[in-house]
Amino acid sequence: MPSNDFVRTVSRNFRVLVIGGSYGGLAAALALVDLSQGRLARFNCNPDAKAPTHRIPIQITVVDKRDGYYHLIGSPKALACEKFASEAWTRFQDIPGLKYPDLRFIQGSVSTVDFKTKVAHIVDAETKNTRTEPYDYLIAGSGLRRSFPTVPQSLQRDEFLEEAKEHMADVKHARGGIVIVGGGAVGVEMAAELKILYPEQKITLIHSRKRLLSSEPLPDDFAERVDSILRETGVDVILGQRVIDTTAIDTKSRRRVWKLTLSDGQQLQTGHVLNAVSQSIPTSTYLPKEALNAEGYIKVDRSLQFSGAIPNPEYHWAVGDLTAWEGIKRCGGAMHMGHYAAMNIHQHMMAECTGGKPDYQTLQPFPSVMGLALGKTAVSYTPGEGTREGEDLMKSLFGKDMGHTICWNYMRLGEAY
Ligand SMILES: Cc1cc2nc3c(=O)[nH]c(=O)nc-3n(C[C@H](O)[C@H](O)[C@H](O)COP(=O)(O)OP(=O)(O)OC[C@H]3O[C@@H](n4cnc5c(N)ncnc54)[C@H](O)[C@@H]3O)c2cc1C
Repeated sequence: MPSNDFVRTVSRNFRVLVIGGSYGGLAAALALVDLSQGRLARFNCNPDAKAPTHRIPIQITVVDKRDGYYHLIGSPKALACEKFASEAWTRFQDIPGLKYPDLRFIQGSVSTVDFKTKVAHIVDAETKNTRTEPYDYLIAGSGLRRSFPTVPQSLQRDEFLEEAKEHMADVKHARGGIVIVGGGAVGVEMAAELKILYPEQKITLIHSRKRLLSSEPLPDDFAERVDSILRETGVDVILGQRVIDTTAIDTKSRRRVWKLTLSDGQQLQTGHVLNAVSQSIPTSTYLPKEALNAEGYIKVDRSLQFSGAIPNPEYHWAVGDLTAWEGIKRCGGAMHMGHYAAMNIHQHMMAECTGGKPDYQTLQPFPSVMGLALGKTAVSYTPGEGTREGEDLMKSLFGKDMGHTICWNYMRLGEAY
């Protein structure tokens, strides 16, 4: 990583509070660590970029409800495969690349933020007491709230492993197959993954619209490819039907069977029902409504600074899924935003120290891009390349572990300080 040989240290000292220790929040924290030490950010790919001329003492605090980094995009596999579950969640304290002297972690939930006094209130996970955390800069990257089984609900690694184990047992021992309700990105990945891991189970995917992925701004041929691959994998796909009733049927054995009634009156029995209907809710309840749009996403400008009518906007920044940003929300986008927010905050700090003007980098709306892991193969869509699929594409987009190693290496989480 290029660094500046003539780097000087400024006398000011800054505290940065990052809310959310996932893709967006960690990328922002790590890029700030690099910049504070007079180095280019680890995510830099601009050959003309110059390393900072000054070292800036920055104390970074990351607060997260979870006790570790969880590879969220691997959830369809993590909840179905014991080995992968164990790899997908790493406690912050066990990650070599996070062991910097000026980077600390708090496990807790942010309950309020006071923009005027620049103080956040955090309910500490261990003591349950509310602690007060003053900051100079705040980065909100707490993403969206999603229900089980889209994502696990545990907040501790050991609880998560139990949660995954229980889910696996339910899937494995379901009598008469498994029904997944909802053919969005999560539902299709979950259906394919379960069919590959449990080939003896009958897997049925039910979607209310005539086309899978109906709420995504993607062309029909992409959705049709996904549909064909699922059917080729052995998944039964039912389109254009809503589940209007789910009734548990008592059986003599320990395991229940469910009777589902569809909107056309059709009935089917299954041993287990998984709800993959997307119910993603912004986690912005700790912010005042002036900072948010009508759906609860943070209003930001192109530099990722808060743009709502709040005090001290230049000290408040947001990254990732929680931002009101155009385009499909993705983990790559969240990390990219983390990098940009860090560069811009660093610019602002430098300006405060030297009396200059910050030169902000801006981001454009995300293009409609999607990559889906469907068991052994992947399908992708980009405006430039259209729809593609194949096992090679699976390797390049997701590697062998649903993209876990790719994200881990990109953020350099395995590299000790
Ligand atoms: C099943 C699934 C599959 C996906 N597959 C893909 C894919 O293949 N490719 C892709 O690019 N994207 C994929 N995505 C989308 C991707 O996961 C998101 O875009 C990405 O996680 C956004 O990152 P983030 O850092 O903004 O938020 P998140 O990853 O949601 O992280 C937010 C963090 O904030 C913490 N938090 C929340 N509230 C608080 C609070 N009040 N106080 C403290 N901490 C808090 C949470 O515990 C969490 O760790 C998938 C999503 C899902 C659910």
